[in-house]
Amino acid sequence: MNTDDLHVKLRAVFDEVMRRNPGEAEFHQAVYEVLTSLGPVVAKHPEYADTAVIRRLCEPERQIIFRVPWIDDSGIVQLNRGFRVEFNSALGPFKGGLRFHPSVYLGIVKFLGFEQIFKNSLTGLPIGGGKGGSDFDPKGRSNAEVMRFCQSFMTELYRHLGEYTDVPAGDIGVGMREIGYMFGQYKRITNRYESGVFTGKGLTWGGSQVRTEATGYGTVFFVDEILRSRGKSFDGKRAVVSGSGNVAIYAIEKIHELGGVVVGCSDSSGYVVDEKGIDLELLKEIKEVRRGRIAEYADARGGTTEFVSGGSVWDIPCDVALPCATQNELDGDAATELIKSGCKIVAEGANMPCTPAAVKLFADAGVTFAPGKAANAGGVATSGLEMQQNASRDSWTFEDTEARLAEIMGRIHDRCLTTADRYGQPGNYVAGANIAGFIRVADAMVALGLV
Ligand code: NDP
Repeated sequence: MNTDDLHVKLRAVFDEVMRRNPGEAEFHQAVYEVLTSLGPVVAKHPEYADTAVIRRLCEPERQIIFRVPWIDDSGIVQLNRGFRVEFNSALGPFKGGLRFHPSVYLGIVKFLGFEQIFKNSLTGLPIGGGKGGSDFDPKGRSNAEVMRFCQSFMTELYRHLGEYTDVPAGDIGVGMREIGYMFGQYKRITNRYESGVFTGKGLTWGGSQVRTEATGYGTVFFVDEILRSRGKSFDGKRAVVSGSGNVAIYAIEKIHELGGVVVGCSDSSGYVVDEKGIDLELLKEIKEVRRGRIAEYADARGGTTEFVSGGSVWDIPCDVALPCATQNELDGDAATELIKSGCKIVAEGANMPCTPAAVKLFADAGVTFAPGKAANAGGVATSGLEMQQNASRDSWTFEDTEARLAEIMGRIHDRCLTTADRYGQPGNYVAGANIAGFIRVADAMVALGLV
């Protein structure tokens, strides 16, 4: 990361972040990415630097780290570590998902929580930013083991949550099954059916239509807005989507509905190429029902479908690339391949999946790049809609909720473009998203005084 790019006042902030948070590479990267966009804002509004808004934004309001002991199916005690970083509540209660993955440590949770502040701000909804999780790996664990882990995790975390305090949701490794176990334990300990304390709930116990689909659908709606702003559409476009989890599956579903064809997807063991277009029912059966591996897709699909062990899914030529798996999965080499094969749009369904080197290569090559805090904001936006329904004891239809999601994604898209224009960087979605997200939360922080 070259700090020479940063405005002098922001360089001091970044140096402080590096000093106060040693060894947290992903957090440094996320802060740097936002600060590179804020130079023109600081130049125009010195009050943000003078009231230390940016310094304060980089320091979480509260960080909770706790022990999570649980007993596996063989009767052996297992030990994990739990985290919740309550980053910023200037706009509303802390809001952001929980991730269960062996790679989780404080630096990952802080990068995700930091991103979440700006993403939530961009949605225009009254929600602050936070994130949490554990280094627990649900892969290969029985339902009973996952339940015992979730119950132990929530036995500590419940005291920090509340519909007006902190409202978690899912992320990698946390879907409706895990949310159910955690919500159940919260309800049992508190003796309150407080639907608004979690989002991503099941439809029969307070969940919202479209929440499962929202992040994937929203990312595709965002790309559709980009295409439409240029008089184009998804019709006939080739797309590649990385991952095969929640975000990836519903991104594929919506691309197919809009007339595009997804010719490849992946998991951490490798990727599949299916020139006829991914068979979504088969993929859902393998991934959502059997919790299987992507190689099983190629075996079951047969024909010319190929499984490539390891390797990079970005070697498959495409018009539109949607990284929907994990952070830093698309590096400079992958970006070079995509540019070479003629890819025109890259939109982040995952959080920070493109490395800074990849983002720079896209910018230099004229590839349109939509950052995650804008492109994947549909998930949290629909969580906001779930909170609205819970608060009013209401439930909306699928069509109504999906129409609201599409409208929110359209507004985020327009907000990015207008803001980028206003700050002299037309068409730059990174600058637009960072600046628009920042200004709303910064103004609220100034209004609330030194807290
Ligand atoms: P899931 O756990 O449902 O799926 C994650 C997918 O990514 C799995 O297919 C997983 O494969 C794959 N994956 C993980 N690591 C790698 C890797 N190194 N290389 C290739 N594939 C990999 O998670 P989600 O779909 O919920 O989340 C995906 C991303 O989207 C994350 O970055 C998350 O933060 C972000 N996001 C999610 C939201 C949501 O609403 N769920 C909202 C906004 C952002 P395997 O099974 O082999 O590990």
